[in-house]
Amino acid sequence: MRPIIHCQLINDPFGDPGMYADIMFESRALLFDMGDVAGMASRKLLRVGHVFVSHAHMDHFAGFDHLLRLLLGRAKTVALYGPANFIDQVEHKLKAYTWNVIRNYTADLLFQVTEVAEGGALRNACFRSSLAFQREDLPETRMNGDGLASCGGLQVRCAILDHATPCLGFAVEEPAHVNVWKDRLDDLGLSVGPWLRDLKQAVLMQLQADTPITVLRRGDTGGASATLPLHALRDVVQVTKGQKIAYVVDVRYNPLNAERIRRLAFGADLLFIECAFLQVDAEQAARKNHLTAWQAGTLARQSDVKRLIPFHFSTRYRGRGEDLCAEADRAFRETSGSGELP
Ligand SMILES: [Zn+2]
Repeated sequence: MRPIIHCQLINDPFGDPGMYADIMFESRALLFDMGDVAGMASRKLLRVGHVFVSHAHMDHFAGFDHLLRLLLGRAKTVALYGPANFIDQVEHKLKAYTWNVIRNYTADLLFQVTEVAEGGALRNACFRSSLAFQREDLPETRMNGDGLASCGGLQVRCAILDHATPCLGFAVEEPAHVNVWKDRLDDLGLSVGPWLRDLKQAVLMQLQADTPITVLRRGDTGGASATLPLHALRDVVQVTKGQKIAYVVDVRYNPLNAERIRRLAFGADLLFIECAFLQVDAEQAARKNHLTAWQAGTLARQSDVKRLIPFHFSTRYRGRGEDLCAEADRAFRETSGSGELP
């Protein structure tokens, strides 16, 4: 399967946490947390249409100013998501500046902000540059189960976790992935082209077998010219499970958090998870409401994820990052099945 979602950490594991998820073929990207984003290329930040902020501790949110400055004067809409009080926090950031001349800008920059309350209520507001970023409250909505947002064809789910303040964990999922077999297209005398997008959509929507699909025959010029029923094209495509990527950072290790993380991350291809402390310092981790590497690896194993990406290391271990990675990996591969901490 060719991955649609390409992920990377925005800083090294000792730097501010954050993950950039680039969506192939769509000129768009998602950003999970935005602490220090100064090292990111502007062209990458300009692709970001959705920002998911776990909580507003500075190392997760201070980069808002950088993004704001980059986007000023551009016609752009950015959706921001965060936990309770997040709308107020965005408003306070915007109110910290003087906007007396911004009405003269022709391009409108719009922030659509959603905060997640316990119980699944979503509070919404927007701030647009043409109104000097005055807050406009919008009607409250609700999460669909744990579904928070749709970004193109992707779904983003969230879990409210406890970090001595509400902290959101996220999972981004591609509902299904449709592959096209080029050799089978050739066998039918068909060529690749934009029509394949309609075919994929019809398959994903499970349209009726006799649904006509406009195709491009080999040698045709001037665009699509014929139709075939969907059932005649069934062998051309293969539907596979889509990608799933989970992002969990800044949580204390307790049974409710563990249960919510397992439910959120279950079966993910990639789990980005904080490994702030070594297990030998578990008391310190608990006091600071963070996970140890062993706890993170254990949660990753229990969630049946394919791969674990450790990050958000406490700077006290600078130069010993490999120890944190090794401990997380040991817990991830632990086969006793007990899931108990050492
Ligand atoms: Zn924090």
